[in-house]
Amino acid sequence: MADILRLVEDNAPELVRIADAIWDYAELGFREIQSAKIQADYLEAQGFAVTRDAGGIPTAFVAEWGEGRPYIGFLGEYDALAGVSQEVLLERKPREMGGPGHGCGHNLLGTASMGAVVALKQALIENNLPGTVRYYGCPAEELLAGKVYMAREGLFSDLDIAITWHPGSMNTVRLSSGTALNSAKFQFFGKTAHAAGDPHNGRSALDAVELMNVGANYLREHVIKDATIHYVITSGGGQPNVVPAFAEVWYFVRAPRRHQVEAIYERLVNVAKGAALMTGTTFEIDFLTGCYDVLLNEVLADVMWRCLQKVGPPAFDDKDVEFGRRLAQTFDESQMESLYNSPNFMEFPDLRQQVIHTSLLPPRGRGRSGGGSTDVGDVSWIVPTVQISAATVPIGCPGHSWQYCASSGSSIGHKGMLMAAKTMALCGLELVKHPELVQKAWEEFREKTKDSPYTCPFPKDKEFPFDRFFT
Ligand SMILES: [Zn+2]
Repeated sequence: MADILRLVEDNAPELVRIADAIWDYAELGFREIQSAKIQADYLEAQGFAVTRDAGGIPTAFVAEWGEGRPYIGFLGEYDALAGVSQEVLLERKPREMGGPGHGCGHNLLGTASMGAVVALKQALIENNLPGTVRYYGCPAEELLAGKVYMAREGLFSDLDIAITWHPGSMNTVRLSSGTALNSAKFQFFGKTAHAAGDPHNGRSALDAVELMNVGANYLREHVIKDATIHYVITSGGGQPNVVPAFAEVWYFVRAPRRHQVEAIYERLVNVAKGAALMTGTTFEIDFLTGCYDVLLNEVLADVMWRCLQKVGPPAFDDKDVEFGRRLAQTFDESQMESLYNSPNFMEFPDLRQQVIHTSLLPPRGRGRSGGGSTDVGDVSWIVPTVQISAATVPIGCPGHSWQYCASSGSSIGHKGMLMAAKTMALCGLELVKHPELVQKAWEEFREKTKDSPYTCPFPKDKEFPFDRFFT
């Protein structure tokens, strides 16, 4: 056991260097050219067979080593978020004004999974064990698309187990779900006219967008409470004195389960039809992606929890705690108050005394769903999946924020990343050594999915819209 942790530790300087490089690149979804390359190159140098542009998806890659079963897949991500560029500082200071930044810690996410596969490979050699270790370089998680597209191309279909993690404020094993989602742009086509001279000859695509939004806002009242609908207008015309012939609105529909998203989305499409009919316009749908809710495996969560206890929390020092304490002073007070009233804090009141999480929480969140979505959901409906969280930001750090970006580039982030890499590597080794656990995980998986097998939300024959997320 100690061996595999040492194997991760041996590579620590290299892992930190790669995480920092990716933090610097801060590349948006499907544009992670340098981020994917630095990881693919590293794994190739470590003896992995690397397939770049896996499934025809640019910036996706798969690195594989070993032979025979089990096939253990580690999921990595490396995309940044628009608008949260930030230096590793205690006050708001973008590296690039309005630029992207790692406000979700994905510079650490992929790198820890990569550290885990390299250590696991070495441990299998040293212990003369069978098994295939695979690292999945998954692009565009923030667009909820990378793993969905990879799933459509069948890249996860032969896996026995999927292991992943997410940077966060707690050291724990995740059992909570995320919402299923559809993401689509509705494009309306009308007819230009002089807005004052002959408006009667115009058909406004913008009117259609606005009426669609009005309809959607009335729809909210009549969907299940846990569903959410959000939109942004991505194109609304050029100037006021020209009736816009083109307008576009980008929608997310989310709900706890996939079938609920599908039902609500169908009604939203009807709203769009109504808006087109009212305005004498036509419309098309550019379906960008859809993802599943997250189905985490309890058998695997138990194994991971045992591994997490063996590894222990990240070794934060006084400097980390001081940085965390001062960064936490910038967090919103009302947000902290609602955090203190959340289930974790009610159950473990001593958390209130901690700046960075320096203990461990047993598997959390069974039966709960955070409001957000992740494309890990799709993998979790294809193969038994386990996910841990490691503290890489101070407790209470808002997601997708400049503070999250700063912490992800600091030694707090590095230490959480190394803990995650060790725990995942150890969990992988446990599963190779104990095939009966893999079998038990599959029994649970089959039982939970028997009535709703995975169908990729992205249509079979549609071309992937890699470059249509950001305009
Ligand atoms: Zn994330």
